[in-house]
Amino acid sequence: METKPSPWAVAVEQFNTAAIQLGMEDYLRAKLAECERILTVTFPVRMSDDSIQIFTGYRSQHNTARGPAKGGLRYHPSVSLDEVKALSMWMTWKCAVVGIPFGGGKGGVICDPTKMSLIEVERLTRRYGTSLEGFIGADKDVPAPDVNTNAQIMAWLMDTLSMHEGHTLLPLVTGKPVALGGSLGRVEATGRGLSFVVADAANHLGLSLASAATAVQGFGNVGSTSAMLLHDLGCKIVALSDVFGGIYNPQGMDPRQVIEHVKQTKSVVGFPETEPITNEALLEIQCDILVPAALENQITKENAPKIKAKLIAEGANGPTTPDADRILAERGIIVLPDVLANAGGVTVSYFEWVQDLQSFFWTEKEINARLKRIMDESSRAVWAIADQREVDLRTAAYFVAIDRVAEAERVRGIYP
Ligand code: NAD
Repeated sequence: METKPSPWAVAVEQFNTAAIQLGMEDYLRAKLAECERILTVTFPVRMSDDSIQIFTGYRSQHNTARGPAKGGLRYHPSVSLDEVKALSMWMTWKCAVVGIPFGGGKGGVICDPTKMSLIEVERLTRRYGTSLEGFIGADKDVPAPDVNTNAQIMAWLMDTLSMHEGHTLLPLVTGKPVALGGSLGRVEATGRGLSFVVADAANHLGLSLASAATAVQGFGNVGSTSAMLLHDLGCKIVALSDVFGGIYNPQGMDPRQVIEHVKQTKSVVGFPETEPITNEALLEIQCDILVPAALENQITKENAPKIKAKLIAEGANGPTTPDADRILAERGIIVLPDVLANAGGVTVSYFEWVQDLQSFFWTEKEINARLKRIMDESSRAVWAIADQREVDLRTAAYFVAIDRVAEAERVRGIYP
């Protein structure tokens, strides 16, 4: 079995590969290969049974040359500083690829919220937020939802810091409920952006989406919306999975019905007229489009030779290891990289931040149209560089992003 590489090692390797090819100055390459600021916090939470449990969390700001750090907050037992740092670096590139004025940040708390009560999650969130006071803020670092966090958790985070400040801080976090300055269209934004990027790629490749067999790993926010919108574009959804296992039907299934099943049973498993399939097998099934939308390091050198999809759209962050990338490229499998494919979420988060700062809110139609314009333009820019420089799409996306960040660093200069 391949030991899974550290996400940070993967992120740095991806960055260095592109930066060396771009001929970046050594000082800048050394700077961008590290995070600007990292905070580790340890704090107690009173649990429902009155016991006190100690939790550890992190917040990493990789780069803020182009604007405040921006990135999600993850609650998961496997959260580590290594992973949080990698995710913050990927956010820097993602914001730059789509040209929004943010740097990269990410946070995480080591915990298993599926085994915690709602009040315990609320207390953990409020205490973690308190520990971040002064470190995050609308003009410093703006958190958003990620794995196992949601609009309610963002509302608690925002409320906690607003209580301390003595006034309401709407643009402090994004992905908030619409009742609290959240943006229409934010929940679906990542999957919607992915569907735009897949449609553009299909155009480019001459791949018809009508009945294109599609498998989606992970059926949370990103996976379920991607499945639904790709289904709307004509794709045949043949396999879906979550942490409990997967389901397969070569004739296709309606993701909206699967969402209803998940609402009732908490899992895709057991959806009628499907065969059970493991998460590992899902990645290798016969399909045209594969959407990894769960966690990182899913496509490795072990399974990359067995993948049958023609197109992989990375809904998750970092699902493909560099070794797997090389194998997929040799096999002519196109990978739409995370920094482009799942950038719709942060793009609508940017819209939310702008709307909160202006106290002026847009319609869902306006939001989706602006999202489409940004995703289409970004996708075209990345494909153009890939064609021009004869590189894969990840390298092309990195070229676009790193160039923008490096230029911001150069014109800002070195202080003092
Ligand atoms: P989520 O918590 O809503 O859903 C995660 C899904 O993955 C769930 O269905 C869960 O059961 C499944 N899962 C968890 N562990 C798994 C495992 N070991 N094997 C298979 N499935 C597993 O999270 P999300 O917000 O949809 O995020 C998914 C991925 O997308 C993450 O990599 C995240 O960083 C990335 N992402 C999210 C957003 C966003 O807007 N939410 C934006 C960009 C990228």
